[in-house]
Amino acid sequence: MPTEDITPVTIVGAGPVGLMLANLLCAYNVPVTLFERHLTTVKAPRAVSIDDESLRSLQIAGLADRVRDICAMDYGSIYLGPDRKPFASVSPSTAEYGHPRRSAFAQPELEALLADSLRQYPNLRIHFGQEVVGIEQGGTGVTLEIQAQDGSRHKHHSRYVAACDGGRSPIRHLLHIDMKGHTYEKKWLILDLKGTRDNFRETRVYCDPRRPGINLPGPNGTRRFEFMLLDGETDEQVTDAAFVSQLLRDHGPDDGIEIVRKQVYPFHALMATEWKKGAVFLLGDAAHLTPPFAGQGLNSGLRDASNLAWKLASVIHGQLGPAVLESYADERPEHAWELINMAIKLGRVMMPDTMLKACLIQAGFRALKWVPPANDYITQMRYKPKPRFSKGFIVADGANLRTTRVGRMLPQPEVEADGRSRHRLDEILGKGFALIAFHPDPPNAFNGLPELPFEARLGLRRTCITPRHYNIVPGTAGATTVRDMHADFERNCVGARESWLLVRPDRYVMACIPRSNPQAAVETLSRMLHA
Ligand SMILES: Cc1cc2nc3c(=O)[nH]c(=O)nc-3n(C[C@H](O)[C@H](O)[C@H](O)COP(=O)(O)OP(=O)(O)OC[C@H]3O[C@@H](n4cnc5c(N)ncnc54)[C@H](O)[C@@H]3O)c2cc1C
Repeated sequence: MPTEDITPVTIVGAGPVGLMLANLLCAYNVPVTLFERHLTTVKAPRAVSIDDESLRSLQIAGLADRVRDICAMDYGSIYLGPDRKPFASVSPSTAEYGHPRRSAFAQPELEALLADSLRQYPNLRIHFGQEVVGIEQGGTGVTLEIQAQDGSRHKHHSRYVAACDGGRSPIRHLLHIDMKGHTYEKKWLILDLKGTRDNFRETRVYCDPRRPGINLPGPNGTRRFEFMLLDGETDEQVTDAAFVSQLLRDHGPDDGIEIVRKQVYPFHALMATEWKKGAVFLLGDAAHLTPPFAGQGLNSGLRDASNLAWKLASVIHGQLGPAVLESYADERPEHAWELINMAIKLGRVMMPDTMLKACLIQAGFRALKWVPPANDYITQMRYKPKPRFSKGFIVADGANLRTTRVGRMLPQPEVEADGRSRHRLDEILGKGFALIAFHPDPPNAFNGLPELPFEARLGLRRTCITPRHYNIVPGTAGATTVRDMHADFERNCVGARESWLLVRPDRYVMACIPRSNPQAAVETLSRMLHA
């Protein structure tokens, strides 16, 4: 069987997660090979909701503005009782990470955009119509067996393999990795429509035991309906044209418009028991399957890609040792599982099984409106677990998990740079590691922190952010200064004045180096960041 030269990273699957990982790796200048068994990216609509963290990861790949152009930005949800009266609403008004917390998009458009963006990278080899049918590990890495559409086979070697091969993940099966969790008994009918006549721009969630459902507006006149199947209903019954027509008539003015797709899905709440085996990593649906009630499956997959990409790049470029790769499996599962749990809880609100339960839950929500912190918890989506790691490639600072900045995503405020230009913070920080001082006096912002042993090797950038009421004045040589224009950094990064923040390329805070006593943190960092 013919073989090829060794590739640093091979990605299996050109779904959104594989394509995102390819874009990030290419942006970090890593040669990548990608195999996809189909001849094109998937055309069927699936995910419709993208969050602020995903948009920020796309920003790292230089794609946030292009993706924003295909999104209906910043929309909320209204929860309706059986009487179709609202009992709760979710309408987040904050943008801590620099993007709206919830926007609508069409997955095929995102996939096409991600695939198109890859054309700019000469280091990428993408092979559609080639299926991975075997895998072996050992020696210098991983050998994949590839089958082309004409049935011919060849072997492909790589140092690392990223299995982004979807929920049924052949690679997960070949590696004998199990999934834990459960599959919902109830199936859902998904209807995707084009040319909606309904101009209501928020999601409507029908929390009605007689027929739980969701009605989501999308960009460019699209609309998604999801309806739960009731006991005894079959796939054939609920996809019958007359049945669908009646459902649409009961839920707005869209009966009779074009139905792009109707399909019945089972939903799962499952996670792989191992996320890394040898030199193979599981990402996206291959690692976790999330019920769609929270619109987080794809978003969690994009978080996987953003977590792994810079680690692979640092190892392949010789900036860090391979130990950093172990942290992928330490960091990602906890947060992914928290989001699966959030989706399960939202499912309980959406799918009360009796009228009595519906009334009780909904009365509870109505009462909460009178308690401002509780109301805020719901309307501002504070129930969504914040991106945070409790272990992994971070330097714990001894503070408790609720208050520490370590392991959390750095806020992304709008900042003013020299010359009064305005930027999102990440545009200033660049793609690599960054060291941040939040300080009113830029020339003294890094006093007490001489050049760090790993600074030049990692290409670490020093940035001083001045509080809102302080002008930008030149800082120390090599450091950039910007101003926290709306005090968002100060508000969202409490305690930042007491420490220097070492930020990883995925925008998570790796360490808070205390100004009062930097020595211990610098020593730990030097140990962790050696090549
Ligand atoms: C109805 C529905 C609604 C959803 N809504 C949302 C939402 O609003 N928000 C959200 O975040 N998520 C949502 N999701 C989930 C989201 O669609 C998935 O999480 C996402 O598609 C996963 O992306 P992926 O790249 O991991 O896998 P996939 O999109 O499944 O891609 C895997 C790719 O790997 C390829 N492949 C598989 N095996 C091989 C092989 N052996 N060799 C080569 N190629 C292979 C496949 O052909 C495929 O192209 C929804 C899902 C459904 C079903």
